[in-house]
Formats: sequence, C-alpha cells, structure tokens
Amino acid sequence: MMPNPQTPLVDSLGRIHTSVRLSVTDRCNIRCFYCMPETDIPFAPRERILTFEEIHRLARLLIQQCGIRDLRITGGEPLVRRQLNRLVSMLHEIDGLEDLSLTTNGILLVDQARDLRQAGLKRINISLDTLDETVFRQITRREGVERTIAGIDAAIACGFDSVKLNALAIRGITENEVVRLVAFALERSVMLRFIEFMPLDADRAWEKQSVLTGDELLGILRNHFGKIEAATRPDPSQPAEEFLIEGGKVGIIRSVTQPFCSACNRIRITADGAVRNCLFARGETPLRELMRSGATDDELLLEIRNCMLSKAPAHGIDREGFVAPERAMYAIGG
Ligand code: SAM
Ligand code: SF4
Repeated sequence: MMPNPQTPLVDSLGRIHTSVRLSVTDRCNIRCFYCMPETDIPFAPRERILTFEEIHRLARLLIQQCGIRDLRITGGEPLVRRQLNRLVSMLHEIDGLEDLSLTTNGILLVDQARDLRQAGLKRINISLDTLDETVFRQITRREGVERTIAGIDAAIACGFDSVKLNALAIRGITENEVVRLVAFALERSVMLRFIEFMPLDADRAWEKQSVLTGDELLGILRNHFGKIEAATRPDPSQPAEEFLIEGGKVGIIRSVTQPFCSACNRIRITADGAVRNCLFARGETPLRELMRSGATDDELLLEIRNCMLSKAPAHGIDREGFVAPERAMYAIGG
C-alpha cells in the first residue's frame, strides 16, 4: 500500500527527479587514477557512514513520498560493504520501487553475484576499461583484470535483467582498448558504454585534453567496424547514445562534450549521508546528524526538497572559472 500522495522532487527549472544514486561506501579495493588518490585517502570514519537502516529510511521516503522510481547502489566499491545483499533485500521490499541496480568494478562479483540476484537486484553495470593486465595496473594501481572478467561472466550467468559494461574514455589509454572491448562485449551479447572522463579525479589531473571524446570514439569505431548508425533514444534522461555496429550495439556517454543536464533526473546520497543535487554541485545537504538527532520524516523531506530546488542548470565544465567539486568521484558515488 502506498502511503500519502507523492509530491515529485522538482528543481527550479522544473526537472523532475525519479532516480537515486545511493553510495554505500567510499572505500574501494582498487585505486583508479581517474577517481581516487593512490595513497593517504581521507576515508570517512565508519561511524559517519549511514547504517543500512538509515539508508533504507531515506530510500523509503524518496520512493514513497517523492516519486523516486529507481535506485542504483554505488560507491566507492559497493561490494566491499559487508552484507550488501542484506541491504539489497531491504531496498527490494520497498513498495513502489520499480528498478534496483548496482555499479561495481566486478572484482568481488564471482562470490557475490548470485546472492545479490537472489536478494532482488535487477540490473548490474560493471566497469571494464581494459582487458590487458598491464593497462589495468596502470589505471587501477592494483591487479585484477582476470577477476573482473570472471565477475562479468558470473553476473551474466546469474540472469540479471541486464548486465552492462562501462569503459572510461581517456586519451592515451582508451584508443588501444576500444576495439577489443567492443568485441568482448559483442561476444557476450552485453552492452558496452564508453563514458567521457570527467573532472572528478581526486588528483585533479583532469584536463580537457585528457578526454577521448565521443566523436573520436565514433571515428575509431567507424575505422574498424565500418558503417555506424545512431539508434533512437527511447528515454531522453538516459545519458547513453546508442549506435548500431556490425554484430550489435555500443553506447557513448558524452558527459563532457554533450552534457545531458537539461534532462537530468538524478539525485545522489553519499555514503556519509549528504544529499547532492548534481555530481558537480559545490554544496550539499547533510542529513546524517539530523536523522541521528531524531528528525521527523517531514523535516528530512523539507531538507531534501530544498536541496533539489537549488540544483544548477548545468555542470558548466566548459565555462570559464569552472571549479571541480571538493569531493572526488569515490566520495560522491558515480
Ligand atoms: N567502484 C564502482 C565502479 O568502479 O564501477 C562504482 C563506483 S564508480 C565511482 C562508478 C563509475 O564512475 C564507474 O563506472 C567509473 O568508471 C566512473 N568514474 C569514476 N571516475 C570517473 C571520472 N573521473 N569521470 C567519469 N567517470 C568516472
Ligand atoms: Fe574504485 Fe570505482 Fe573509483 Fe575505481 S572508479 S577507484 S573501482 S570507486
């Protein structure tokens, strides 16, 4: 039974938010250079990380009072959070939730894919930037491409509603990976999406030149696969453009060169309990201490709605004077 009529989460431009990125940890078992620092990482102390019960409370409010329809669990690396399948099953049981998905680096999936599926996880996205162990180490400063690939195959074997692969598009690295990654995905009949590298790296080394752009990716794909046709985009809030190539489809997310901010329907909750209205927001609304000091549901909802009202029209990466957010990707939740 759905309690109370819902009031959608709207911002000052009329964008309606129906999708939550829920980070469950800022910790990770690898150290991708485009996300985390290599050493001295200022992880949030454990007591500042939301408990499963706190996450469930926020998710329930967002779904049942604000019209949120889908939740994506992310991190850090969500699979390093102990008993994640327990959280999945708690979220799965919330009336009104239509889609429950997760983004992972795949390294721990061999052990967890089946339990997550059984707990009610519907869809899974796995990050895979390369199939080559040397390049994997260069990117992640750790070992693990074989385990990632085994994790992908384990997820496929579990029968999720969808398994997708995400590859970051980085100049100087991805050019050599494109064709092999696409072939790998086509062999397994899963969708691969390239994502333009965004200025969310903790090392602040991003520069415009380090993005391998969607246009350049299309050039590489055309050279190898011949004709490419743009597929129709059924849902404008979905950031991936899809292209038909021989043997299947490939996706490109041009988050830098063709931002989709005007159709953005996302809200984010960080692992330490702050609401963010944008990946690139310079401000956020902390909820953890409010919750822990006895705030009512209505008080929390007011904070969440006010946070969304102040969402900027666009990320502005291209604007003069753009300043990246204080938090890097691992501490926000991508
Ligand atoms: N650890 C999990 C993983 O890597 O899939 C989930 C969290 S990770 C922050 C979520 C996604 O963000 C991954 O697909 C990752 O490639 C992407 N990502 C990380 N840093 C990024 C950046 N600077 N620009 C664009 N995407 C980034
Ligand atoms: Fe970890 Fe994911 Fe960040 Fe890589 S992108 S360091 S796997 S959180």
